[in-house]
Amino acid sequence: MQAVFAAAQQTRGRCLEPGVRALASRCAAAAACFLESAAVLAFHSDAFTLPLPAGHRFPMGRYAMLREQVQRTLPGVRIHEAAPASDGELALAHEPAWIDAVVHGTTSAAEQREIGFPWSERMVQRSRRSVGATIHAARAALAGEGVAANLAGGTHHAHAHKGSGWCVFNDVAVAARLMQAEHHRDQLRLPKRQAGRGLRVIVIDLDVHQGDGTAAIFKDDPTVFTLSLHAARNFPARKVAGDLDVELPDGCTDAPYLAALDAALASAFERCATHPPGLAFYLAGADPHEDDRLGRLKLTAEGLAERDRRVFAELGRRGVPIALTMAGGYGRDIATTVALQRRTIALAFEAWQRWQSCQAAAPRSADAGMEESSR
Ligand SMILES: [Zn+2]
Repeated sequence: MQAVFAAAQQTRGRCLEPGVRALASRCAAAAACFLESAAVLAFHSDAFTLPLPAGHRFPMGRYAMLREQVQRTLPGVRIHEAAPASDGELALAHEPAWIDAVVHGTTSAAEQREIGFPWSERMVQRSRRSVGATIHAARAALAGEGVAANLAGGTHHAHAHKGSGWCVFNDVAVAARLMQAEHHRDQLRLPKRQAGRGLRVIVIDLDVHQGDGTAAIFKDDPTVFTLSLHAARNFPARKVAGDLDVELPDGCTDAPYLAALDAALASAFERCATHPPGLAFYLAGADPHEDDRLGRLKLTAEGLAERDRRVFAELGRRGVPIALTMAGGYGRDIATTVALQRRTIALAFEAWQRWQSCQAAAPRSADAGMEESSR
């Protein structure tokens, strides 16, 4: 197919006989289709940037920078704009009063301070689309892609009843609940003897800050396992216990971090052994990096890449589809953060390729993972 594509490219723009022109056009269309399908899916929501006051610490521009860099340098990524999450979808993880206050702009000054953004219509639209992008990624991962990404998301400080730490809605919590509901709906369509257990979800939160909102939302929900590896002395001051929290000391470097990650992944999957996850959300924050303004840890770029490789490898080996989100990243130079996130997307593409080649070799392997997690 690549040869056909090259031939089609070479003939582009030349004066051709009608028959040859038609053939070249068909070849080009087939090649475009091949390129479209031979790529990992990523969803973005950066059309709505927030009108932040001058000097605000949130690096809003990094989302568009990441998308542009991915578009320019990673042809193996298909990028689509996300649709906004509906009120009904948001209500799977949020209290109706909170959704109402955000949507209608009636959040109090204290609530806006806790979010860290002043209310604006753009904030509502951006927050809805960021959740929508994670929903799209999770649905695509489950539908056979194996790996798909949100070029934003990972808003893990948002609780059911409030926002916090630059997070308005909790994209992963909403998407997890929605995927469970859709899985349940699909199970109901099967003959009873084929219907299995509910979809168990694992959240692997490697942002440098603890995923307190996610932990709180799933506190009493054994169908979602929450793992958070974070800097002990970082935001939030008051942590919420998840299923597995690993606290790291200030200045933690690559080797101890990766050892802690290996142990945490092993422990998490051991504790999920009786009902293995059929979907993973991976929050690949770039903020454990040594040049991050808010991170407190000292991971190198290579250490972060190795972190990503290990997570993708572990989930791939277990046949667990992955919805990837970018979560935090606040480099002193924002270009550093964008480069780290671009690397994560490049590694996601490699993981997607491995998933696809495994599926080609054993077409039912992805379903087998799902079946295992079914009751
Ligand atoms: Zn963070």
